[in-house]
Amino acid sequence: MTARVLVVDDILANVKLLEARLAAEYFEVLTAYSGQEALDICARERIDVVLLDVMMPGMDGFEACRRIKSDPHTHHIPVIMVTALDQPSDKIQGLESGADDFLTKPVDDIALVTRVKNLARLKTLNDEMLMRASTSRQLGIAEDDALQKALSGRSGRILVVEDHPRSGTRLLASLSKLHDTFIEQDPQRALFTLTEYDFDLAIVSLSLERADGLRLCSQLRSLERTRHLPIIMLVEPGEEARLLRGLDMGVNDYLIRPIDRHELLARVKTQIKRKRHSDFLRNRIEQTVEQAITDALTGLHNRRYMERHLETLVREALRSGRNLSLLIADIDFFKQVNDTYGHDAGDEVLREFAERMRRNTRGIDLACRLGGEEFVIIMPDTEIDRAYQVGERLRACVAADPFPLAQDLAIRVTTSVGIATLEAMDDTPHTIFKRADQALYAAKRSGRNRVNAAA
Ligand code: GH3
Ligand code: MG
Ligand code: MG
Repeated sequence: MTARVLVVDDILANVKLLEARLAAEYFEVLTAYSGQEALDICARERIDVVLLDVMMPGMDGFEACRRIKSDPHTHHIPVIMVTALDQPSDKIQGLESGADDFLTKPVDDIALVTRVKNLARLKTLNDEMLMRASTSRQLGIAEDDALQKALSGRSGRILVVEDHPRSGTRLLASLSKLHDTFIEQDPQRALFTLTEYDFDLAIVSLSLERADGLRLCSQLRSLERTRHLPIIMLVEPGEEARLLRGLDMGVNDYLIRPIDRHELLARVKTQIKRKRHSDFLRNRIEQTVEQAITDALTGLHNRRYMERHLETLVREALRSGRNLSLLIADIDFFKQVNDTYGHDAGDEVLREFAERMRRNTRGIDLACRLGGEEFVIIMPDTEIDRAYQVGERLRACVAADPFPLAQDLAIRVTTSVGIATLEAMDDTPHTIFKRADQALYAAKRSGRNRVNAAA
């Protein structure tokens, strides 16, 4: 999906110029010639970024921005103010009216594309995040602080890599009111710090006395731990070639010295938000995946996961000629537990049973709840005698100590176990599972609280 950019300027030539440059970068461009027209388009269309001229007759850019940012339907649309002169007062007024970033006329190509790309990406992440949040609310899942924190972009952890003392002090002074800011003069130590600790942003000077800041940027991009860490680089005027190399290797944004405090804060805020948004979404995905493969009551893997995994393990064992054994454990007379002590007590027993199973399995064994009061342990690289020992140890561990229930109550529980092992080349997950189940059934028939291996 390409980003849709709305270009707003009262002068036709300015609109056409920006439109052509953005179109050349494959953005979809809409145009407006007044503040009011811009508001109408924002209300009607999906817009990902607004480029807003400050000086317009009638409603000026500040007022248009204020209105975009105060309407709940449009306030999440990023706005870039295009100021005629490099007027610090314009920037302050722009930030106060809610602008997300600035461009100064004449608009520099690299700056234009970098700002628009950054804000368009942020907008996409933001939309996605709000959609997920809304789905969660519909499902009755309460939103946590993580969402609010992700939305605000405040109080990030920033590492500034700068060895020029005065510049370092100034950066620190500007940033530390809003963010936890640390400074590091040596890129190697910075690399260590950034890979060891959680940071939201790195600001890297490309004019270090004793080292090459670009090298650090490239290292940060290639390491797994810092691949997603936003980077802003600080460049000297006229350093276009190095600036482009940085952007090419995936540095997110830049500031040209002398550094304008307002631009610095605006860009830092965008990058921290972006990081928070994508972290939030990534965690969501992990949680969802986790839920899809985990049994909610016991925290063991669920049946679906077990079936998938068993397929892989059987294939692998047949290919390599290694052993594979499987155990099914079923709690004896579990219905009576429910009938006598209630369903909650039954659940408590299931949880404790899972815990004892965990205690009796190795790291590479896969313990899962099949459903009800039936559990499975899949044991790669394990022959049947050894699997029998595991089963026997589990049986003994269950029978040994009573299961604690609420109110100082504890009950004795036993389990029957059936075991099978991979035998023939034409074995399948189904056949091995079936043998284990038959072995379990035989254990039940011959009196329960025992382990039985398939013949
Ligand atoms: P057997 O020794 O032959 O295995 O007898 P049993 O009573 O354990 O077996 P049966 O299959 O007759 O009963 C299983 C019971 O497990 C019935 C069902 O209500 C209960 N059950 C299944 N899932 C859950 C659960 O998630 N929580 C609780 N508390 N009980 C469950
Ligand atoms: Mg049972
Ligand atoms: Mg049963």
